[in-house]
Amino acid sequence: MGDEESTTGKNPYNDEQRKWLDGLKKTYDRIVAKGICMATIRAHDEAPAEPCEGKIGRRHAIARRHLKLIAERTDRDPKIRANREYKTFMESSRELEALQLVPVSEFSAGRWACQRHDEIFAGIDAQHIDLSEPENLFKAVYRVVLRQNHLMLARWNANFMGTQTEEGWKRFKETAFSTPVSDEKATSAWEEWRDVAHAVMGKMRDLKRRLASEEWNSLEYRAFLLKSKPTVAAWGCLMIHLRRNGHRHVELGYMIVIPQHDGHAIITACETGVRCLLPDIVRIHKYMPMCANPNEPNSAGERLKREISRKIWELSDEIGMKESLYQSWSATEQEEVQEWMKQERRMRQPTLFNQPSSRLPNFF
Ligand SMILES: [Zn+2]
Repeated sequence: MGDEESTTGKNPYNDEQRKWLDGLKKTYDRIVAKGICMATIRAHDEAPAEPCEGKIGRRHAIARRHLKLIAERTDRDPKIRANREYKTFMESSRELEALQLVPVSEFSAGRWACQRHDEIFAGIDAQHIDLSEPENLFKAVYRVVLRQNHLMLARWNANFMGTQTEEGWKRFKETAFSTPVSDEKATSAWEEWRDVAHAVMGKMRDLKRRLASEEWNSLEYRAFLLKSKPTVAAWGCLMIHLRRNGHRHVELGYMIVIPQHDGHAIITACETGVRCLLPDIVRIHKYMPMCANPNEPNSAGERLKREISRKIWELSDEIGMKESLYQSWSATEQEEVQEWMKQERRMRQPTLFNQPSSRLPNFF
């Protein structure tokens, strides 16, 4: 749909479908604009969230002061080069592949935290992020997940509201799939969308719990400062869908590129023990030198810099089981992967830079 429209120049929808889709877009824009403190989102059986204080202001997943380091102009709203983000309901994933030139005020910015809950990020907003502190790395990841959730929940909620009437359901079936589908298939896609949204939200809540108990080392990180003239900023959540005992489970991998005075701070992270499920993260790890002091600018050679950048930006490609990567693993990891690849019904897809699953309805 969105794709077809942009490639053929034809509008594939009739007036009623267009009207319904416009409604979804409006709902999405309204939810995003209204803002919500993501820290207040909890499961039904959880204790009430701690109170929010201060207004829900405009926040950035990557600190504004760091983004300003790569601003191309010095006028009122300078622009930077960064990865694309889903900012409207109708954007298609194809439009997100390349880097964008975006105003500093907009990149990774949204109304998703109150004053009090934003203050926990003070450490990573310092002029120089201390990359040797797991607490900082954890918080950098957590903040990216808040951003991801804010956008993702708005999309899901707009879809939920838009499909509650008989007419809405009909439009959903007509527009979310490239070919006509049965009610059963539409329901299954709708439920998958819901489950993924809930799973990612569950991950966000779990990270918040670990934040409260200061479990900074509960993620596996690699971070280093690549000595360079900072030129880009980026954040991305890689999503892998698994089925465990019939239940949908979503595992995430994270990558963040933060401009610093001396270069690019590159942070990658995943849950401990799931490294083999996230080949792309491992692929980047492979190119990231282990540093005694990650804050010491690493003057990697041109070739290494090029390789790291390439690996990072390549992530929008389908995750492949690359020979070279595979060979770099231990025998145990290789066995785990073989086992994993054999299992059916296991879905994996990259959703880098907040790209939603390609298996979900075509809105994404
Ligand atoms: Zn709050």
